[in-house]
Order: sequence, then structure tokens, then C-alpha cells
Amino acid sequence: MTGTVYKSTGSWYTVKTEDAQTYDCRIKGKFRIRGIRSTNPVAVGDVVDFEPETGVEGNTGIITHIHDRKNYIVRKSVNLSRQKHIIASNIDQVFLLVTLKNPVTLTTFIDRFLVTAEAYDIRAILLFNKSDQYDREEFLEVKYLADMYRNIGYECLGVSALTGKNTDRLKAYMKDKVSVFSGHSGVGKSTLINAVEPGLGLKTAEISEQHRQGQHTTTFAEMFDLSFGARIIDTPGIKGFGIIDMEKEELGDYFPEFFALKSGCRFNNCLHVEEPHCAVKQALEDGEISWSRYKSYLQILEGEEENYRTDNYGE
Ligand code: GDP
Ligand code: ZN
Repeated sequence: MTGTVYKSTGSWYTVKTEDAQTYDCRIKGKFRIRGIRSTNPVAVGDVVDFEPETGVEGNTGIITHIHDRKNYIVRKSVNLSRQKHIIASNIDQVFLLVTLKNPVTLTTFIDRFLVTAEAYDIRAILLFNKSDQYDREEFLEVKYLADMYRNIGYECLGVSALTGKNTDRLKAYMKDKVSVFSGHSGVGKSTLINAVEPGLGLKTAEISEQHRQGQHTTTFAEMFDLSFGARIIDTPGIKGFGIIDMEKEELGDYFPEFFALKSGCRFNNCLHVEEPHCAVKQALEDGEISWSRYKSYLQILEGEEENYRTDNYGE
């Protein structure tokens, strides 16, 4: 039989079949996936084949095969620093909630997030939440940001979890897809999810204190079916996802507007910093690329330790 992993405890996996039967499954013996060294062989979102067990109380099974993952997000493992923990896989889109205040979301944070989404090959959509709390000036700032990111090709939507503004449009985006919601603690993830699906009651946040003490609790993601034909993966305690390991030369490829110009640079390994005849820097001077994006690019390129750590491990 074939199904999707909805939940994992590390040794048991809740697998749901297309006809909505759930099975508690295990894996047997060593189970290695090509190319990925991870502490967890099976992740939420995985499509798996399994053999139902007979003569056992309830629906149980043994996982025999994991289908190729379309994409997956990881964080570094807590215990084995060289290994990764796969948080979730087969994600259709990730929504980043952005607020100008309470809390402030910086463009550098947004850009790091977008780079990672590009690198993971996951569609990212920006949700400017708390639109009800902005005065005219702040409203214009949101509009400026949304226009900037739309120009690059990212979908943007202004929403209010409080008033329900544009939650219908958000639901239309979510329908028939697997979504993940991200953003700083306090941007309104739980409230927004509750606005699209009242009563779901997710357990996001609440572990920030432990994080502050440098203790990284192992939290597991979980997938939920929503009533309007959407699925979400809740990833407790993860506000963004880590910048994945990449070569410096690769970074510009994850800024779509830089990538589009790359062929115009004299050097094909151009870092768009000091090199002569750089199409990206020319576009920057011509005002076709925004300084805020370029600034983020430089910051990521220089690899600021502090931000790097924060982004890797969540809140
Ligand atoms: P999370 O940490 O991202 O899950 O954020 P919460 O959903 O817990 O929301 C944090 C705070 O922001 C709560 O006090 C919410 O009531 C408030 N909040 C969430 N969405 C909105 C919104 O659209 N407008 C306003 N004014 N407040 C909001
Ligand atoms: Zn260049």
C-alpha cells in the first residue's frame, strides 16, 4: 500500500492512505536513503510504500520504500553536528508572514528566507500580516515592499488574521497544496491558521525560552488535513529554515533577479562585488535591482555568524 507520512515520533510513523485510512508504521533494520545523511530516515510529507501487518490489533504496517522526494527542508541535527534532521518533505509552498512592527521583520530576514526557499526548490509566498494595525505611512511601506518582491516574481498578499482580510484569497492559494507557514514568533502564524481553519489549534511557538538557553529540543513536524482540501505541515519552533550549505558562487543564483542578469557579467563565476563589467552592479546603479536586496546579498555572502546561527535553529 502507499500513503503519506503525517506524523513521526522518531520510531513510529503515522501513514495515511488516499482513502483516508491511517496506519501506525515502523521501519525495519537499517534504512538508508541515497545521498542524504540524516538522523531520521523517514520525514513528515514522505510518500511511502508499506506492508500492512496482519493479526495485529489496529492498523499497523512496515515501511518498505520511500518515494523520491520532490524537496525537503532540514536543520542541523542537535546531537550529531555533521548530520541533518529532515523536518519535512514534498512541500508545495511556504508562506512567510511578515510584519512591520510587533515584531519587526527585516528585509535581510526575508531575503535569507527566500534564498533558502529557492535553494530548496520550494515556492515562497509573502504574507504581510496585521494589515489592520498600520497607519498610512506604514501601509505605504508595506506596499513598497510588496511591489519590490512582486517585481522579482514573488507572490505577495496583504492579510489580517484579526479581521479576516484576504483569508479567502489565502485559502485559494492553499487549496489542494501542502503548505508551511513561517515567520518570527508573534507575526500571527497561529492566529492566521486559526482564521482559515477555526479549531485546528496548532502548537507553534512556546519553546523560545529553551532555545534562548541554547537547548534545542527535538520537535517533530506534523501534517494536518484542512476542511477545504488543503494540507499544512506544522513545524513547531522553526521560524525560518536554515541557509543550506552552498558555495559563494552559487548564492547569486538564488536571487532570481541577479540570476537573470548573470550571463551579462564578464566572469561566469562573478560574485557581483568587485569584478569589472558586472551586469548585476550595473543594474543596481540603473535602479533595476533594489539596494535592499543587494545589501542582503552582501550580508549573506559575508556570512554573519549571528544571523546564521539564528536562522539555522529557529527562534
Ligand atoms: P505566532 O507566534 O506567529 O503564532 O503569532 P500569534 O498567532 O500567536 O500572534 C501573536 C499576536 O499577534 C497575538 O496577540 C495575536 O492576537 C496578534 N495578531 C495576530 N494576527 C494579527 C493581525 O492580523 N492583526 C493584529 N492587530 N494582531 C494580530
Ligand atoms: Zn556580476
